[in-house]
Amino acid sequence: MSKNSLEISPLMIIPAYLVGEVKSKLAYVDEHIMKAEITSAGDKIILHLDIEANEGLNNRIVTKIQRVVQALVKGAFKLKVQVLEDFIDRPVPCSIDPMPELLRRSELSQEALGIFVLGPLLTRLVAYLERRFIELADSFGAQPYRFPTLIPARFLERVKYFSAFPHSLTFATHLRTDLDAIDHFANQAVCDEQGLNVPPETFAQVNTLLSPAVCYHLYFALAGKPLKDGQLIATAVGNCFRYEASNLISLERLWNFTMREVIFVGTKDFVLDHRELGRLRMNKVFEEMGLAYRVESANDPFFIGEFRRQAAFQSAFQLKYEIRARLPFKDPPSVLKTDYATLAVGSYNYHQDFFGRNLDISLPDGSPAHTGCIAFGLERMAFALLSQYGLEMKSWPASIRKALM
Ligand code: AMP
Ligand code: ZN
Repeated sequence: MSKNSLEISPLMIIPAYLVGEVKSKLAYVDEHIMKAEITSAGDKIILHLDIEANEGLNNRIVTKIQRVVQALVKGAFKLKVQVLEDFIDRPVPCSIDPMPELLRRSELSQEALGIFVLGPLLTRLVAYLERRFIELADSFGAQPYRFPTLIPARFLERVKYFSAFPHSLTFATHLRTDLDAIDHFANQAVCDEQGLNVPPETFAQVNTLLSPAVCYHLYFALAGKPLKDGQLIATAVGNCFRYEASNLISLERLWNFTMREVIFVGTKDFVLDHRELGRLRMNKVFEEMGLAYRVESANDPFFIGEFRRQAAFQSAFQLKYEIRARLPFKDPPSVLKTDYATLAVGSYNYHQDFFGRNLDISLPDGSPAHTGCIAFGLERMAFALLSQYGLEMKSWPASIRKALM
């Protein structure tokens, strides 16, 4: 064990079905944690730190780790996974991680953790995917929208985002409108490895964040009034931001990514029927694309305190299904079909009347509107296809090749 590692025996064994969830949260426990591992038996946590471990630091970290384990494991039970589609065995020719080659060919360049520039190959692939998703939106006659990248803090607060996902928020601010502060900044600001050397009081109070999702903007635009015609189908693409600390690796997990959404607002039946229709239509599109994937029930990455209750709620009411594409290069050595490595490339969501109630969007009978959305992560979808088919266009499915030539 290196002097930068810390091995911890959790007070409770972490069951296999929670290992991924606990691991993803360990990234937020302490700024010195660069990487966290959990043994397959769930009885050891190994942390890699960016400074030499010392007793004081160790104790602080161990206490916080035990708190996370306790909160996530105590009283937890395995949620039943419901599989709606299973095409995970669709034969695909590639099992190599596309990242090194994408970087080598400058088809991808990294600006910072979780921030990438996409080159021509990926951009064309993303444009192709976009066309397919817009076809889905058009099949519903969805109204097009353009949403801002910034989102007011008071909007997110109204839909309880701060308690559900505090760990992934990204704040946007500006300099105080004060001549001395602005002059001082202009003359003194230096950016080094640590970031800008500017005292926090130079910045104005945070009132705005970078948007974590696309559909929220539609709900805020509809807030406080009766829903015209009692129903709406809309579509938009947008930049989304979710800070995922040391979990930000490759194109799999980005701080800044893009999502195309098709959004449904109306009665419960209207939303659920359209979500299902969208899934059935995408089934054909994915078949044409040759994507190896499954659609299965899932939950949102709620923060530690909210996770267990919210995840159980989402599961009980079948609120979220994820499109999970196979990443063959990540498969463990001798793999069963059930253990294939996958990545969520999209989701089918139903929010019940959560937004309708909290934002006062009403149906003609006065009851709160129900909402749902189909969301596709564009970078992830492109990454999954390249992981399954490689970088050479000649190996790609004919439908994609033809569309791109
Ligand atoms: P969600 O609203 O969490 O279901 O996200 C919708 C889709 O956005 C996911 O299925 C992913 O494809 C994509 N997505 C979510 N988080 C990230 C991320 N950190 N990096 C890249 N894509 C993401
Ligand atoms: Zn959405």
